[in-house]
Amino acid sequence: MIESINPFTGDKIASIREYSEEQIDKVLEDAAERFKGWRKTGFSERSALMLKAAEELRKNTREYAETITAEMGKPIKQSIAEVEKCAWVCEYYAKNAETHLASEKIETDAVKSYVSYEPLGVVLAVMPWNYPFWQVFRFAAPALMAGNIGVLKHASNVMQSAENIQKVFERAGFPKGCFQNLVIGSDKVENVIKDSRIKAVTLTGSTPAGSAVASTAGAEIKKSVLELGGNNALVILKGANLKKAAETCVQARFQNTGQSCIAGKRLLLQEEIAEDFMEIFLEQVKALKSGDPMKEDTFIGVLAREDLARDLEKQVNDSVKAGAKVLCGGKRKGTYFEPTVITKVTKNMPVFAEETFGPVISTTTFSTYEEAVELVNSSQFGLGVSLFTDDLEKAEALVPLFDDGAVFINELVKSDPRLPFGGTKISGYGRELSIHGIREFVNKKTVYIN
Ligand code: NDP
Repeated sequence: MIESINPFTGDKIASIREYSEEQIDKVLEDAAERFKGWRKTGFSERSALMLKAAEELRKNTREYAETITAEMGKPIKQSIAEVEKCAWVCEYYAKNAETHLASEKIETDAVKSYVSYEPLGVVLAVMPWNYPFWQVFRFAAPALMAGNIGVLKHASNVMQSAENIQKVFERAGFPKGCFQNLVIGSDKVENVIKDSRIKAVTLTGSTPAGSAVASTAGAEIKKSVLELGGNNALVILKGANLKKAAETCVQARFQNTGQSCIAGKRLLLQEEIAEDFMEIFLEQVKALKSGDPMKEDTFIGVLAREDLARDLEKQVNDSVKAGAKVLCGGKRKGTYFEPTVITKVTKNMPVFAEETFGPVISTTTFSTYEEAVELVNSSQFGLGVSLFTDDLEKAEALVPLFDDGAVFINELVKSDPRLPFGGTKISGYGRELSIHGIREFVNKKTVYIN
């Protein structure tokens, strides 16, 4: 059985039997069969269904959000926002997929030559628990609109949400087999990737999981996209509006109880403003309301599993042993971890060098722009960086110096259906969202007519 345990109450929410080999085979067969017809459907038909999925998400937001909160401890308001964002991505691709994938004429010696964007077939999505709906929809909306078929292997602790996502597509009227949830543990993923009916795979999750999945996909010569961890920096430059920057940094680090790949995990302060900024920032962090994730006014919930909270505790304790200083928080109780600010960190301490997946932020200072760039790029991750400044010209001139997949100025790094999303280095490869995301799982077919 694959079980969901409410990390706040400890109650068992769902217990779903793992699929047998026969059931797995049936899912893949239904998916492959469905592709034969789905690839021939037009954009208007796919769009109408995708808009129905958005409607379903908007109609039953609360139902889906409550399961997300119960399964992984996200405060309810944030779960509701997540489901609404999924409706947005469905609407975005319903409206734009046809333009994104319109054939591109290229002048050559031929009478006619062009690139035609065509679906690949059945795509496996291995997804994590931190945004149980969003991570899946940002894959599924473009994949289905491109004419592909989706098979989901969701994280084991959010299987009820996975079942609910399948329900969204069923309720929207998608033909059977277009999107199916595969109830399996991670040990079964390798064989599924190797199955000839699977044409490509996408994974969002940890670097080791990404590496395992990409290795199998590579050996099978199958396309993969990886969205892995991050260790984003928040860089506050002198002259920045400190109060506004502090508010944004609190959101960047502490929303979703800190369990986000693009969260700002390292706070880098220019020496001149370090003390003033820290005073404002600390006051705001201390004011964050922790509590029952089902309550509307809770901002900090619990971590999704106790082992994740324990890992975080070890990273904090090891850093303190190495000389870091806790300015607030620092303690764990079961799955709850206090909002924590840590200073006097050095590059090799776990809270700076590793990804911390919870409400913990490490801070250090720098004096010059060059030093700031060097600190940002010293991470082995490369998802994104935020700069806070009043000198936009200078900040824009720094953009090409960063290794990351995204640079946001006076804003937290966030995902938006209209913008590409993805990383460099061990944060992964490929892009999701926007025109770039929908073009990942397509055959860019060259057509030459004489
Ligand atoms: P994992 O990366 O282990 O899980 C993500 C998904 O991958 C799940 O569906 C999981 O299945 C599956 N998976 C895990 N290992 C393999 C494998 N070897 N082959 C195929 N599939 C696999 O994340 P954890 O839940 O263990 O979290 C650990 C850390 O990962 C976090 O602390 C954080 O640092 C990072 N993480 C990053 C995320 C991001 O958004 N980039 C999201 C979640 C975690 P199953 O649940 O059945 O094991």
